[in-house]
Amino acid sequence: MVPLFFQVLKPRLWTCPESSISLIHRPLPAKRAPPPPPALGPRAVCGACFCAAFEAEVLHTVVAGRLLPPGAVVAVGASGGKDSTVLAHVLQVLAPRLGISLRLVAVDEGIGGYRDAALAAVRRQAARWELPLTVVAYADLFGGWTMDAVARSTAGSGRSRACCTFCGVLRRRALEEGARLVGATHIVTGHNADDMAETVLMNFLRGDAARLARGGGLGSPGEGGALPRCRPLQLASQKEVVLYAHFRRLDYFSEECVYAPEAFRGHARHLLKLLEAARPSAVLDLVHSAERLALAPAARPPAPGACALLDGLNRGRPRLAIGKGRRGLDEAGPPRDGEPERAPAPEAVPAF
Ligand code: SF4
Repeated sequence: MVPLFFQVLKPRLWTCPESSISLIHRPLPAKRAPPPPPALGPRAVCGACFCAAFEAEVLHTVVAGRLLPPGAVVAVGASGGKDSTVLAHVLQVLAPRLGISLRLVAVDEGIGGYRDAALAAVRRQAARWELPLTVVAYADLFGGWTMDAVARSTAGSGRSRACCTFCGVLRRRALEEGARLVGATHIVTGHNADDMAETVLMNFLRGDAARLARGGGLGSPGEGGALPRCRPLQLASQKEVVLYAHFRRLDYFSEECVYAPEAFRGHARHLLKLLEAARPSAVLDLVHSAERLALAPAARPPAPGACALLDGLNRGRPRLAIGKGRRGLDEAGPPRDGEPERAPAPEAVPAF
């Protein structure tokens, strides 16, 4: 028997056949913060009912948000971790009802001692679920650059704090390439509510208006020729995802990336845990805050694209395009007194 902490979008009655407990799911008010979940907290349901309710919630998220239309060919970003494993499994269960077909797309970032084992988990999943799997590698897509090479370039040695910034932008591009390769019409990723809340916190702490502006909602409709993306697990907490994987006995890879300890995200995660202890609804409150955040077009500086990052790497100026504003992009900074005038930087390569 496990606690159930669902936040749902319309009222429904759920009765557990084993415990005969009925749970009333309350709607979220349209323009106010969502109610905290304690009303459901003390109740319990069995594992089978929990999984059925979890799948029903994901189905509701996809249908209510019109995320995946019937006939869609959906590329699932598969990392081998718990989130993408749960996402792929739930969508496979729901695929006949949604009328969609699935393809697994995995990205090989080129991280020694980590990615090979994770990719092995993805291959096992693909075989078990009989889903087509395509692996795209940074080294093939980005002129030989792997994350290990980026780490050496950004820090001179070992693990750099900037690694995840590069990796996030490159992975987005790689997933797009992989999805197009398999003929997908839509991309889904396994981000859960905790991931999204951490991202919102990070963006606020960094003053990153560009990412804040595009961070809300359940996905993006596919601007600038990109494929539409969505996050069907965005309203599910990490606890729920872990429980679902546990009860469904899913085989996933759970080790942390070697560069993760240096990531700024770790601080946001720690802060979020403190906030959640004081206010249990903090995670979903942050997710919904981002949804409602509206920035004027003039306040949205463009986020760096993969091309700009690669341009910086290839020119030996890896911090190019990951700072704030054009001046802050150049790690060398403006010339100091007595320093000879530098040659003007070439025009920035347009982002993908
Ligand atoms: Fe990439 Fe950072 Fe994730 Fe490692 S932790 S896979 S470097 S984003």
